[in-house]
Amino acid sequence: MIIAVDGPSGSGKSSTARGVATRLGLRYLDTGATYRAVTWSALEHGLDLDDTAAVAQRARELRLEISTNPSKQYVIADDVDVTTAIREPRISETVSKIATNLDVRKELIRRQRAIIDAAQPTGGIVVEGRDIATVVATDAELKVHLTADQDARMARRGAELTAGAVTADQLRDQIVRRDADDATVSQFLVASDGAVTVDSTHLSLEEVVDVISRLAKE
Ligand code: C5P
Repeated sequence: MIIAVDGPSGSGKSSTARGVATRLGLRYLDTGATYRAVTWSALEHGLDLDDTAAVAQRARELRLEISTNPSKQYVIADDVDVTTAIREPRISETVSKIATNLDVRKELIRRQRAIIDAAQPTGGIVVEGRDIATVVATDAELKVHLTADQDARMARRGAELTAGAVTADQLRDQIVRRDADDATVSQFLVASDGAVTVDSTHLSLEEVVDVISRLAKE
């Protein structure tokens, strides 16, 4: 069983996908964390991010361990626990650039598919990202495209950030900029054939998890 959950930043993807995995007793994979870990490593090694060959090489060499337990998430990159570091603004601001490197994508998609395959004997996995239904797991049994309007996405992102760390205008700029950056990689944010669109704008997390869990059992 594979459940693909795709959607833009702030749509509530992570909490939703984790909630569905917990509810249904499945594993969980946050593919965004793999792009963030490569970004962290490229910065750590002082690489020129425009040097696509060097960054792709780093992605291939990186030792990456990512938890698929929805209640205990961690990411280890080259033996360093980067669970918190990969959420820092410096990573969020740079990750889209790394994600447009097609050789990095090729390598990370290969790793993501291996994790998905390894989870099948345990019952299955909920995989969250941007290109899961269209590229990574086109054979997913359920494909969900999660959306929310910009104000709802801002409110969710805002709650995650330390109060007063950014202004509302800065936050809106960040969301608009990341959407634009992400849109430069083809196939992102394009609803896949056969995907069910769930608009979470007016739903609580619990309600979105209910909707998707019900769809998974159909
Ligand atoms: O989901 P999250 O916001 O952590 O993803 C970080 C970035 O990784 C996204 O902004 C996007 O650029 C990239 N990404 C991607 N493909 C995925 C998941 C994430 O390109 N499947």
